[in-house]
Amino acid sequence: MKAFVMKKVGEVGFVDKPIPEPGPYDALIKTTKALICTSNIHEVHGRVKAMLDKKNVTLGHEAVGIVEKVGSHVKVFKPGDRVALGGKTPNWLDPISQAGHSSHAGGPMGGHEFELKRDGAFAEYFLVTQADGNLAHIPDSVPDEAAVFAGDIVTTGIGGAENAHIPPGGIVAVFGAGPIGLMCVRGCRLLGAGLVIAVETIPKRKELAKFYGADIVIDFKEEDPVEKIISLSDDGLGIDSAIEAVGTQITFESCVRVTKPGGTISNVGYHGGREYVNIPVEAWVGGMAEKTITTIMSPGGRERLRRMLRLIENGRVDPTKLISHRFKFDDIEKGFRLVESKDPEVLKVLIDFE
Ligand code: ZN
Repeated sequence: MKAFVMKKVGEVGFVDKPIPEPGPYDALIKTTKALICTSNIHEVHGRVKAMLDKKNVTLGHEAVGIVEKVGSHVKVFKPGDRVALGGKTPNWLDPISQAGHSSHAGGPMGGHEFELKRDGAFAEYFLVTQADGNLAHIPDSVPDEAAVFAGDIVTTGIGGAENAHIPPGGIVAVFGAGPIGLMCVRGCRLLGAGLVIAVETIPKRKELAKFYGADIVIDFKEEDPVEKIISLSDDGLGIDSAIEAVGTQITFESCVRVTKPGGTISNVGYHGGREYVNIPVEAWVGGMAEKTITTIMSPGGRERLRRMLRLIENGRVDPTKLISHRFKFDDIEKGFRLVESKDPEVLKVLIDFE
Protein backbone atom coordinates (compact mmCIF):
# COMPACT_ATOMS: atom_id res chain seq x y z
CA MET A 1 0.00 0.00 0.00
CA LYS A 2 0.97 3.61 -0.49
CA ALA A 3 2.01 5.58 2.63
CA PHE A 4 3.02 9.22 3.09
CA VAL A 5 5.95 9.25 5.48
CA MET A 6 8.55 11.35 7.21
CA LYS A 7 11.60 9.80 5.54
CA LYS A 8 13.72 11.53 8.16
CA VAL A 9 13.58 14.91 9.92
CA GLY A 10 13.15 17.53 7.20
CA GLU A 11 12.05 15.10 4.46
CA VAL A 12 8.62 13.71 3.49
CA GLY A 13 7.39 11.56 0.60
CA PHE A 14 5.57 8.40 -0.48
CA VAL A 15 6.84 4.87 0.15
CA ASP A 16 5.31 1.43 -0.39
CA LYS A 17 4.57 -0.57 2.74
CA PRO A 18 2.89 -3.92 3.39
CA ILE A 19 -0.75 -3.76 4.57
CA PRO A 20 -0.52 -4.28 8.36
CA GLU A 21 -2.01 -7.39 9.96
CA PRO A 22 -4.18 -6.75 13.05
CA GLY A 23 -3.31 -8.44 16.35
CA PRO A 24 -6.08 -9.84 18.61
CA TYR A 25 -7.24 -6.43 19.92
CA ASP A 26 -6.48 -4.40 16.78
CA ALA A 27 -8.48 -3.23 13.79
CA LEU A 28 -7.31 -2.54 10.26
CA ILE A 29 -9.01 0.51 8.77
CA LYS A 30 -9.31 1.49 5.10
CA THR A 31 -8.74 5.24 5.15
CA THR A 32 -11.42 7.47 3.61
CA LYS A 33 -10.56 10.99 4.87
CA ALA A 34 -7.76 12.55 6.89
CA LEU A 35 -6.59 15.96 8.01
CA ILE A 36 -3.10 17.36 8.13
CA CYS A 37 -2.22 18.54 11.64
CA THR A 38 0.17 21.34 12.54
CA SER A 39 1.87 18.79 14.79
CA ASN A 40 2.86 16.85 11.64
CA ILE A 41 4.81 19.95 10.61
CA HIS A 42 6.40 20.21 14.08
CA GLU A 43 7.45 16.55 13.79
CA VAL A 44 9.03 16.94 10.36
CA HIS A 45 10.74 20.16 11.45
CA GLY A 46 12.43 18.36 14.34
CA ARG A 47 10.43 20.05 17.11
CA VAL A 48 9.19 16.75 18.60
CA LYS A 49 11.92 14.91 20.49
CA ALA A 50 10.46 11.41 20.09
CA MET A 51 10.53 11.82 16.28
CA LEU A 52 14.13 12.96 15.87
CA ASP A 53 15.54 9.49 15.09
CA LYS A 54 12.54 8.17 13.13
CA LYS A 55 12.90 6.90 9.55
CA ASN A 56 10.08 6.31 7.06
CA VAL A 57 7.36 6.61 9.68
CA THR A 58 3.87 7.12 8.23
CA LEU A 59 2.43 10.48 9.32
CA GLY A 60 -1.18 11.28 10.23
CA HIS A 61 -3.42 10.83 13.27
CA GLU A 62 -6.62 12.65 12.26
CA ALA A 63 -8.58 10.18 10.14
CA VAL A 64 -11.76 8.23 9.52
CA GLY A 65 -12.38 5.10 7.51
CA ILE A 66 -14.07 1.75 7.08
CA VAL A 67 -13.15 -1.27 9.19
CA GLU A 68 -11.47 -3.80 6.91
CA LYS A 69 -10.47 -6.49 9.39
CA VAL A 70 -10.55 -6.99 13.16
CA GLY A 71 -8.61 -9.16 15.62
CA SER A 72 -10.29 -12.08 17.40
CA HIS A 73 -10.81 -10.13 20.66
CA VAL A 74 -12.40 -7.00 19.13
CA LYS A 75 -16.03 -6.93 20.26
CA VAL A 76 -17.47 -3.54 19.26
CA PHE A 77 -16.44 -3.25 15.61
CA LYS A 78 -16.79 -5.43 12.53
CA PRO A 79 -15.70 -5.19 8.90
CA GLY A 80 -17.71 -2.58 7.01
CA ASP A 81 -18.28 -0.27 10.01
CA ARG A 82 -17.66 3.43 9.40
CA VAL A 83 -15.41 4.67 12.21
CA ALA A 84 -13.69 7.74 13.61
CA LEU A 85 -10.22 7.48 15.10
CA GLY A 86 -9.02 9.16 18.27
CA GLY A 87 -5.99 11.38 17.58
CA LYS A 88 -4.48 9.63 20.59
CA THR A 89 -4.66 5.83 20.63
CA PRO A 90 -3.43 5.05 24.15
CA ASN A 91 -2.91 1.82 25.99
CA TRP A 92 -5.95 1.77 28.27
CA LEU A 93 -4.29 -0.69 30.65
CA ASP A 94 -1.64 1.85 31.62
CA PRO A 95 -1.93 3.39 35.12
CA ILE A 96 -1.74 6.94 33.74
CA SER A 97 -4.70 6.15 31.45
CA GLN A 98 -6.55 4.72 34.42
CA ALA A 99 -5.89 7.93 36.35
CA GLY A 100 -7.64 9.85 33.54
CA HIS A 101 -4.67 11.11 31.51
CA SER A 102 -4.61 8.62 28.67
CA SER A 103 -2.85 10.97 26.23
CA HIS A 104 0.23 10.36 28.39
CA ALA A 105 -0.14 6.59 28.83
CA GLY A 106 3.29 5.17 29.58
CA GLY A 107 4.89 8.63 29.90
CA PRO A 108 4.78 12.13 28.37
CA MET A 109 2.82 12.10 25.06
CA GLY A 110 2.72 8.29 25.30
CA GLY A 111 -0.86 8.11 24.05
CA HIS A 112 0.23 9.78 20.82
CA GLU A 113 1.12 6.40 19.37
CA PHE A 114 0.56 7.28 15.71
CA GLU A 115 3.80 8.75 14.32
CA LEU A 116 5.63 8.67 17.68
CA LYS A 117 5.40 4.88 18.26
CA ARG A 118 3.89 3.36 15.12
CA ASP A 119 2.79 4.16 11.60
CA GLY A 120 0.05 6.76 11.25
CA ALA A 121 -3.00 7.17 9.07
CA PHE A 122 -1.73 8.84 5.88
CA ALA A 123 -1.84 5.50 4.06
CA GLU A 124 -4.39 3.41 2.22
CA TYR A 125 -4.83 1.38 5.43
CA PHE A 126 -3.91 1.98 9.05
CA LEU A 127 -3.82 -0.20 12.14
CA VAL A 128 -5.54 0.77 15.41
CA THR A 129 -4.46 -0.95 18.63
CA GLN A 130 -7.06 -1.58 21.36
CA ALA A 131 -9.69 -0.84 18.74
CA ASP A 132 -12.63 -1.11 21.16
CA GLY A 133 -11.11 1.76 23.15
CA ASN A 134 -9.72 3.92 20.38
CA LEU A 135 -12.43 4.03 17.69
CA ALA A 136 -16.08 5.11 17.61
CA HIS A 137 -18.89 4.45 15.16
CA ILE A 138 -19.80 7.51 13.09
CA PRO A 139 -23.53 8.35 13.29
CA ASP A 140 -25.24 7.84 9.91
CA SER A 141 -26.10 11.50 9.47
CA VAL A 142 -22.50 12.70 10.06
CA PRO A 143 -20.42 12.83 6.89
CA ASP A 144 -16.80 11.62 6.99
CA GLU A 145 -15.53 15.14 6.36
CA ALA A 146 -17.15 16.29 9.64
CA ALA A 147 -16.39 13.16 11.69
CA VAL A 148 -12.69 13.44 10.84
CA PHE A 149 -12.49 16.46 13.17
CA ALA A 150 -13.84 14.64 16.24
CA GLY A 151 -10.71 12.80 17.38
CA ASP A 152 -8.36 15.75 17.65
CA ILE A 153 -9.58 19.21 16.67
CA VAL A 154 -13.00 19.01 18.35
CA THR A 155 -11.92 17.04 21.42
CA THR A 156 -8.94 19.34 22.02
CA GLY A 157 -10.94 22.54 21.52
CA ILE A 158 -13.84 21.42 23.70
CA GLY A 159 -11.30 20.09 26.23
CA GLY A 160 -9.53 23.46 26.33
CA ALA A 161 -12.85 25.13 27.14
CA GLU A 162 -13.70 22.51 29.80
CA ASN A 163 -10.29 23.00 31.36
CA ALA A 164 -10.85 26.77 31.54
CA HIS A 165 -13.42 26.22 34.33
CA ILE A 166 -15.60 29.10 33.13
CA PRO A 167 -18.36 29.83 35.62
CA PRO A 168 -21.80 30.07 33.93
CA GLY A 169 -22.09 33.65 32.70
CA GLY A 170 -18.37 34.23 33.21
CA ILE A 171 -15.93 35.98 30.86
CA VAL A 172 -13.39 34.04 28.83
CA ALA A 173 -10.80 35.11 26.26
CA VAL A 174 -9.38 32.76 23.66
CA PHE A 175 -5.96 33.80 22.34
CA GLY A 176 -5.59 32.55 18.77
CA ALA A 177 -8.39 31.56 16.39
CA GLY A 178 -6.71 28.74 14.49
CA PRO A 179 -8.65 25.47 14.16
CA ILE A 180 -8.18 24.53 17.84
CA GLY A 181 -8.79 28.07 19.11
CA LEU A 182 -12.00 28.22 17.10
CA MET A 183 -13.20 24.96 18.63
CA CYS A 184 -12.31 26.42 22.05
CA VAL A 185 -14.52 29.41 21.22
CA ARG A 186 -17.35 27.02 20.35
CA GLY A 187 -16.72 25.04 23.55
CA CYS A 188 -16.89 28.22 25.66
CA ARG A 189 -20.28 29.00 24.17
CA LEU A 190 -21.56 25.47 24.74
CA LEU A 191 -20.33 25.54 28.35
CA GLY A 192 -22.25 28.68 29.20
CA ALA A 193 -19.74 31.53 29.11
CA GLY A 194 -21.48 34.91 29.40
CA LEU A 195 -18.96 36.75 27.23
CA VAL A 196 -16.55 35.10 24.80
CA ILE A 197 -13.66 37.21 23.52
CA ALA A 198 -11.37 36.01 20.74
CA VAL A 199 -7.96 37.54 19.99
CA GLU A 200 -6.90 37.21 16.35
CA THR A 201 -5.73 39.31 13.41
CA ILE A 202 -6.27 37.17 10.27
CA PRO A 203 -9.56 38.31 8.64
CA LYS A 204 -10.87 34.82 7.77
CA ARG A 205 -10.20 33.61 11.33
CA LYS A 206 -11.80 36.70 12.87
CA GLU A 207 -14.91 36.01 10.83
CA LEU A 208 -14.96 32.34 11.89
CA ALA A 209 -14.48 33.31 15.55
CA LYS A 210 -17.76 35.20 15.26
CA PHE A 211 -19.38 32.26 13.48
CA TYR A 212 -18.35 29.88 16.26
CA GLY A 213 -19.65 32.16 18.98
CA ALA A 214 -17.23 34.92 19.94
CA ASP A 215 -19.11 38.02 21.09
CA ILE A 216 -16.09 40.27 20.59
CA VAL A 217 -13.03 39.79 18.41
CA ILE A 218 -9.97 41.84 19.33
CA ASP A 219 -7.41 42.43 16.58
CA PHE A 220 -4.08 42.50 18.40
CA LYS A 221 -2.55 44.56 15.59
CA GLU A 222 -5.10 47.31 16.19
CA GLU A 223 -5.25 47.41 19.98
CA ASP A 224 -3.52 45.96 23.02
CA PRO A 225 -5.55 42.83 23.80
CA VAL A 226 -4.55 42.73 27.48
CA GLU A 227 -5.68 46.31 28.13
CA LYS A 228 -8.84 45.84 26.11
CA ILE A 229 -9.81 42.58 27.82
CA ILE A 230 -9.23 44.02 31.29
CA SER A 231 -11.32 47.06 30.35
CA LEU A 232 -14.18 44.67 29.51
CA SER A 233 -14.00 42.89 32.87
CA ASP A 234 -16.08 43.66 35.96
CA ASP A 235 -14.49 46.59 37.86
CA GLY A 236 -11.40 46.18 35.65
CA LEU A 237 -10.19 43.29 37.81
CA GLY A 238 -9.60 40.76 35.04
CA ILE A 239 -11.59 37.91 33.58
CA ASP A 240 -12.47 34.43 34.82
CA SER A 241 -10.63 32.36 32.27
CA ALA A 242 -8.18 32.65 29.39
CA ILE A 243 -7.32 30.02 26.82
CA GLU A 244 -3.88 29.93 25.18
CA ALA A 245 -4.33 28.40 21.71
CA VAL A 246 -1.18 29.57 19.93
CA GLY A 247 1.88 28.28 21.79
CA THR A 248 3.94 31.47 22.09
CA GLN A 249 5.39 33.26 25.11
CA ILE A 250 3.44 36.45 24.44
CA THR A 251 0.04 34.75 24.25
CA PHE A 252 0.78 32.61 27.31
CA GLU A 253 1.78 35.56 29.44
CA SER A 254 -1.14 37.60 28.16
CA CYS A 255 -3.42 34.86 29.52
CA VAL A 256 -1.79 35.21 32.93
CA ARG A 257 -2.17 39.01 32.75
CA VAL A 258 -5.85 39.12 31.79
CA THR A 259 -7.15 36.67 34.39
CA LYS A 260 -8.31 37.88 37.77
CA PRO A 261 -7.12 36.35 41.06
CA GLY A 262 -8.54 32.84 41.25
CA GLY A 263 -8.87 32.67 37.46
CA THR A 264 -7.85 29.84 35.18
CA ILE A 265 -5.35 29.79 32.31
CA SER A 266 -6.13 26.84 30.05
CA ASN A 267 -3.28 25.96 27.73
CA VAL A 268 -3.86 24.11 24.46
CA GLY A 269 -0.96 25.66 22.51
CA TYR A 270 2.18 23.60 21.87
CA HIS A 271 5.23 25.21 23.47
CA GLY A 272 7.75 22.55 22.41
CA GLY A 273 11.06 23.49 20.87
CA ARG A 274 12.17 26.03 23.49
CA GLU A 275 13.48 25.70 26.99
CA TYR A 276 11.08 27.72 29.14
CA VAL A 277 7.68 29.36 29.22
CA ASN A 278 7.87 32.37 31.52
CA ILE A 279 5.22 33.57 33.93
CA PRO A 280 4.96 37.36 34.50
CA VAL A 281 5.50 37.60 38.24
CA GLU A 282 3.49 40.75 38.92
CA ALA A 283 0.35 39.40 37.23
CA TRP A 284 0.93 36.18 39.14
CA VAL A 285 1.17 38.18 42.35
CA GLY A 286 4.51 36.57 43.06
CA GLY A 287 2.89 33.15 43.01
CA MET A 288 0.05 34.18 45.35
CA ALA A 289 -2.61 34.97 42.71
CA GLU A 290 -4.52 31.69 43.21
CA LYS A 291 -4.55 31.37 39.44
CA THR A 292 -4.59 27.87 38.02
CA ILE A 293 -2.76 26.85 34.87
CA THR A 294 -4.30 23.79 33.24
CA THR A 295 -3.09 21.87 30.22
CA ILE A 296 -4.65 19.31 27.94
CA MET A 297 -3.61 17.10 25.06
CA SER A 298 -6.47 15.84 22.86
CA PRO A 299 -8.25 13.46 25.22
CA GLY A 300 -9.30 10.26 23.48
CA GLY A 301 -11.26 7.09 24.04
CA ARG A 302 -14.49 5.74 22.59
CA GLU A 303 -16.73 7.27 25.25
CA ARG A 304 -15.42 10.78 24.61
CA LEU A 305 -15.26 10.33 20.83
CA ARG A 306 -18.95 9.41 20.84
CA ARG A 307 -19.78 12.58 22.75
CA MET A 308 -17.76 14.70 20.31
CA LEU A 309 -19.56 13.02 17.40
CA ARG A 310 -22.91 13.69 19.09
CA LEU A 311 -22.09 17.40 19.22
CA ILE A 312 -21.54 17.27 15.46
CA GLU A 313 -24.57 15.05 14.80
CA ASN A 314 -26.95 17.43 16.53
CA GLY A 315 -25.54 20.63 15.09
CA ARG A 316 -23.85 21.89 18.25
CA VAL A 317 -20.54 22.07 16.39
CA ASP A 318 -19.98 22.27 12.63
CA PRO A 319 -16.25 21.71 12.16
CA THR A 320 -16.47 21.57 8.36
CA LYS A 321 -16.21 25.38 8.21
CA LEU A 322 -12.55 24.80 9.17
CA ILE A 323 -11.77 23.09 5.87
CA SER A 324 -9.83 25.60 3.78
CA HIS A 325 -8.29 23.24 1.22
CA ARG A 326 -8.90 19.75 -0.17
CA PHE A 327 -6.50 17.38 -1.90
CA LYS A 328 -6.54 13.82 -3.17
CA PHE A 329 -4.17 11.49 -1.30
CA ASP A 330 -1.81 11.50 -4.33
CA ASP A 331 -1.36 15.26 -3.82
CA ILE A 332 -0.99 15.19 -0.03
CA GLU A 333 2.47 16.74 -0.22
CA LYS A 334 0.93 19.90 -1.74
CA GLY A 335 -1.36 20.07 1.30
CA PHE A 336 1.55 19.48 3.64
CA ARG A 337 3.50 22.35 2.03
CA LEU A 338 0.49 24.63 2.38
CA VAL A 339 0.18 23.97 6.12
CA GLU A 340 3.95 24.40 6.42
CA SER A 341 3.80 27.74 4.60
CA LYS A 342 1.72 29.34 7.39
CA ASP A 343 -0.34 30.99 4.64
CA PRO A 344 -3.03 32.94 6.54
CA GLU A 345 -5.73 31.43 4.31
CA VAL A 346 -4.92 27.89 5.49
CA LEU A 347 -7.00 26.40 8.28
CA LYS A 348 -7.45 22.65 7.86
CA VAL A 349 -6.40 20.68 4.80
CA LEU A 350 -8.66 17.70 4.09
CA ILE A 351 -7.22 14.67 2.31
CA ASP A 352 -9.55 12.50 0.29
CA PHE A 353 -8.58 8.82 -0.12
CA GLU A 354 -11.56 7.74 -2.23
ZN1 ZN B 1 -3.59 16.62 15.33
